[in-house]
Order: sequence, then structure tokens, then C-alpha cells
Amino acid sequence: MTTVDEHTARILAAVAPTRARRVDLAHAHGCVLAADVRATVAVPSFDNSAMDGYAVRAADVADTSAQTPVVLPVEADIPAGPGIPVPLRPGAAARIMTGAPLPAGADAVVQLEWTDAGREAVAVHQAPRRGLHIRRVGEDVKPGSLVLSAGTVLGSAQIGLLAAVNVARPPVCPRPRVAVLSTGSELVEVGSPPRPGQIVDSNSHAIAAAVRECGGLVRRLVGVSDDAGAFIRSFYEVLAEVDAVVTTGGVSVGAYDVVKEVLTGAGSMRFDHVAMQPGRPQGFGLIEGVPVFTLPGNPVSALVSFDLFVRPALARLRGLPATGLPTLEVTVGTALRSSPGRRSYIRVRLDGPGPDGRYGPRPVAHPVAAQGSHQLTSLAAAQALLVVPEEVTEVPVGSRLTALLLGADSGSILSGMGWTDADVTDDR
Ligand code: AMP
Ligand code: MG
Repeated sequence: MTTVDEHTARILAAVAPTRARRVDLAHAHGCVLAADVRATVAVPSFDNSAMDGYAVRAADVADTSAQTPVVLPVEADIPAGPGIPVPLRPGAAARIMTGAPLPAGADAVVQLEWTDAGREAVAVHQAPRRGLHIRRVGEDVKPGSLVLSAGTVLGSAQIGLLAAVNVARPPVCPRPRVAVLSTGSELVEVGSPPRPGQIVDSNSHAIAAAVRECGGLVRRLVGVSDDAGAFIRSFYEVLAEVDAVVTTGGVSVGAYDVVKEVLTGAGSMRFDHVAMQPGRPQGFGLIEGVPVFTLPGNPVSALVSFDLFVRPALARLRGLPATGLPTLEVTVGTALRSSPGRRSYIRVRLDGPGPDGRYGPRPVAHPVAAQGSHQLTSLAAAQALLVVPEEVTEVPVGSRLTALLLGADSGSILSGMGWTDADVTDDR
């Protein structure tokens, strides 16, 4: 048997980030920047007013006060917009709006609230210091400076910054396009009533959702039957169009295990028994250079396998460090057993440490009911997967173990939520 760590290492040694390309900002959102971006422009690109008010020479109003205000003639009106304002004459003021270019000669902006808001002439009640309310050229971004470094995830602020420095198509690692293909002659598509012996295909939807949570674009294939010809057609057709393939089912030792039958010997595919529970039969390899993950068919095994093996690989494909689920240290609150020689992933809910501090400061893990590999209710109810090491068979109350946190990225801005299957062919 292969260990979880060996199987993971073999996968990560084979996957590399998607090939960098330039995409427009909407498609860059949530992607990882593939190269440093340096500014070719200054931001702001011209001196401008930070307030609605009056552009003045500070020296002209240095002696003003509320009791004896200095009054200046208003010689121009400068809204935000294109154009170069006429220079400000000494002893005059120009009405100016936020974001409007500062006229040459002005060295301060008096905010509206410090004046009588006059149109022909303005009385200034308070003296501004030189430079007040002026945004100088380049005070946010200097030309030539590093704006964002390679490896940065492009969220809303980063997208805004790229636009501000006029980068319309940043270089990114495009979101990986992932084909999700479930196999099983018993499968029907959700929404159709299953006939006797049939079940609804839940894996392809669960895995598709997991791929989106990892920031991937999904191409979901409706359940493929356990027929070698049908599987070969679906598999090789989609292989040419994607950056990774995830299949479920058909990899155990039974007859009609079509995935294993067809893909044995293809590319660098290897089918292993991994020392884990749930999810023993696993396959991985590169076929025509594309990473192919063949996960077991039981719904919990499929998702747990995804979290352990596909998730870090998709992070790597996206250009991120190949990390899996976040880990946390927990105290076990209910005694449990685990099979020898296999690393167990037990579905648990987490309680707070509790007021008496009996278990120390860590969250307390309790297994949820129904831990069978086919029982999705428990995975849906669990907040974490408790990791019980291979050699441990008895876990007494109070044991300290590591758990993998579930659901941390559902709904994250980094996820590919909102994309539809059709988007796979779009300009990513
Ligand atoms: P297999 O790995 O193909 O032998 O499947 C193992 C178990 O998982 C069987 O009970 C299958 O019916 C079930 N299963 C396989 N694929 C799916 C799927 N896409 N959705 C739900 N259950 C499945
Ligand atoms: Mg099957």
C-alpha cells in the first residue's frame, strides 16, 4: 500500500501552474498574477484637488481670520474633467472641485467649509498651510515602481489598482479548466426519477462544486456508463480541452471498473491502494500531459480524496503554493477507534473549548453520526476531518490531534462561483 504522503508527493511532482497569459480584468479576477507588474505611469498623473473648495496661493490668505477674512476675486471655475486650467494669478482664487487639476501657481486648496462659498469673490475664514488638500503627482504610485508582485491573488483592490495604473490585460495563470466525469451505469442525472437499481449522480455535482471552490472552471460530464467504448469517447474528447480531469468511480477491484480497465497503461497512470479511510483505491497520472485524478465512487471517499489530492494540485495549477485544507489542532471530546495501518479522516463537528477549560484552549472534536463512505449527510454536517495517524487505533478522550477544516473557502471571492460550464471556452 502507498501512504497518503507518497501519493500526494507523486501528484505534486507532476503538476505545474497553467501557462501564463494576458487576460482582461474581469477574467483576471481571482487569478494569480504570473509576473511582477511595474507602473509605467504616475498615480495621480497630475496635481489635483482633494476637496471641493478654492485653489489659492497660501501666502495670499496667510493673515486671514473669521473676524477679518481676506476676500479674493474668483477668476475661474475648475470642474473635474479634461483640460489644463489657466494659471492662477497672484491675489486671485479659482473655484475647484475634488479631482480637478490644480492651476499652475496655486499651492493650497481651501475647503468650501472655510469660506463663504462666494462665486464672484470668496471670503476665506481660515488660513491653509501650503500644500493643503493637494494630491501630488505620483503620491500613490511612482512610475517604474512595483505595483503588484507575481503570486498575488487578484481580488477587488488589486483589480482596481491594475486599472488605476492602466493595465488592461495583466499576465495571470488562467483558472484551470477541469473536466469532472462520473462513471457508473447506475447513475442518472439529478432531477430525473431513478428507476430500480439506479441512483442519482451526486459525485459530479459535489466534485464540480469543490473545483469551483478551488478557483477552477468546471466542465461537468453527465454520468458515463461502465462501458469501455463510452468512457474512452467521453474521456479523450474532453482531455484535449482541459488542464485536469477528475473522474469518480470505477477504480476498485470489481468487474466493470471501467476507469481502471481503460486507463491502465495510459500515460503515467498508476492505480494504487492508498493507506487511508475513506478512499482506498486511487489513481493518478499524466495523460497527454494532463493530470488525471481517478477518485473512488463512494461519495464521501470521492470528496475526501479530492480534498487530500486534487485540492493542493489545483492550487499549484492556479499558481499558488500547493496547500490543501487549512489545519487546526483539536482535542478529541469523544473516544473513538480507527483501523490499523490506515490514516483515518473522521467527520467531526467542533465545539468551543468550553468554560471549564478541561480540554485546554483548543476546539473539541466530536464525530458526527453515520461515518460510512456512502453517507454524505455526515460530511455535510461535519466542520472538519479529524486525522487519526496510521499507527493509532484507540483515541481516548482528551487526545490532541490535527483536523482539516472543511468549508473554509465556500463562497470565497477566490472561488470560481458564478461561472457556468459554458465559460470553459471563454476568454479566461
Ligand atoms: P465504484 O467505485 O464505481 O465501485 O462505486 C462505489 C459506490 O459509489 C457504489 O455504491 C456506487 O453506486 C457509488 N457511486 C459511484 N459513483 C457515484 C456517483 N457519481 N454518485 C453517487 N454515488 C456513486
Ligand atoms: Mg462504479
